[in-house]
Amino acid sequence: MIKKSIQTQEIIPRYYGAVFERGNNALFIPPTSFVFGEVLRTDPKKLREYVIEWQKYKSKHQGDYTRGQPVHRPLFPIDDYEDLLYCNPNIVVEAIQEGLLKKYKSKNMWLSDNEKAIINGHLGNTTLTADIKTRYHGGKKNKKPYWKISMDSPLVLNGSYRFNAESCQCDDHFWGGVKKGVKVLCTHLAAGMNQLYDDDLNIIKSEKVIDRDVWLPFNFIDKYGSFDEQLTPYMEINEAPERSSLIIDVMIASFVKNENSFYINKRLAQIPEIYNPELISGIENGDFSFGVLHQKKKNIKTNPDYENAIRYLRREMELKLKKQGYTENRVNVLEFDNTRWETVCPEWTNGKHIIRTVFSNKFPPLYTVRKVGDGDVNIFQPMYDMSYHMSHPFSKLDNIQADKDDKTRRLTSTKVSIPSEINIPDIIKSEYKEQIEAFYPGNKRQIINKSGL
Ligand SMILES: [Zn+2]
Repeated sequence: MIKKSIQTQEIIPRYYGAVFERGNNALFIPPTSFVFGEVLRTDPKKLREYVIEWQKYKSKHQGDYTRGQPVHRPLFPIDDYEDLLYCNPNIVVEAIQEGLLKKYKSKNMWLSDNEKAIINGHLGNTTLTADIKTRYHGGKKNKKPYWKISMDSPLVLNGSYRFNAESCQCDDHFWGGVKKGVKVLCTHLAAGMNQLYDDDLNIIKSEKVIDRDVWLPFNFIDKYGSFDEQLTPYMEINEAPERSSLIIDVMIASFVKNENSFYINKRLAQIPEIYNPELISGIENGDFSFGVLHQKKKNIKTNPDYENAIRYLRREMELKLKKQGYTENRVNVLEFDNTRWETVCPEWTNGKHIIRTVFSNKFPPLYTVRKVGDGDVNIFQPMYDMSYHMSHPFSKLDNIQADKDDKTRRLTSTKVSIPSEINIPDIIKSEYKEQIEAFYPGNKRQIINKSGL
């Protein structure tokens, strides 16, 4: 019996980004915050110039792509919007503004002439405070509301980053705050940090002459520097674009093509040039990792009996982990990343032991067990056994392999397993058996018996 749309346990992602764990909470850093923050604080005349640069770079790129060189698909393909490359730049500006209006009921993010995005900017000893324009409409008539931000500290102090505490009144930052102690480095905080990085004491005042070396985890202000000679996912035509081109790419993807922010951030995370070198070493030494903030559980058309069974199984799996001394981490992670079975899942840890509960609409619930070794970290290269990594989750059952972990970007020993010592409802049992019959390459009977199915 198929009923109307009901909730399943698959998690829909909202953001992908870098995670900084610190005691009581985690700071979640989506690269797009620094793009949107940059757009928010940039003069509209300058943004129009960005559009012109983007058209120049992108049309050359597009020509190469359609001629078969380079062979890779661009990170931000233009697809059905190719007209935007050859039109009057005002049309591009209007298309982006229209998208902003749809999403935020306001085009605040793309300033009008003489509007100010940042007021009351101040840098104390180490704390940045300012009022930053909201992206949404609202407030009193004809008055654009501003959010108060505070950050301690955006500065490089004694040679390293010190993200101690920060606040913003916006929903994005607050939303993160109410969920398991996660704070989001939102567009407004990023706008303030970008401004401080680029400031000449005009907008962000400071009484003292202090070192204003700002630590931007993701940098969309400076030109591409020492990477010019390398081909990376973004720079495929052996010619470094201005960062402005990347900013417009992200604006088009977000507000004209309406792509999910999770996927946009995931693609940005593939571009080495936007990373602060200190962020790269922070990931290598384990201070930072990669994670996912979730939106909600997915609704699909399915059998309500199946939904109840899945809910029951989830409760049982979690109960068992708790009994064994595991606690759920604040931030979700990706399992089976960059495959058709990519799933956002909660991570449970008990000391050095890591277990993830994987709930997907494509296969019945699984555990993945990962043992993080002390092997090298490789943020940008695959470095895993591709045939293992890319194969169906059920073909990996009981087969412990070294596989790259998306969260830590380390090679880890990985095991995929069916929940055992749990009374699995019959409706799911038969699904497990089907998946084993279809995808498990070894002795199917043996694994069915072993898993108590
Ligand atoms: Zn904010």
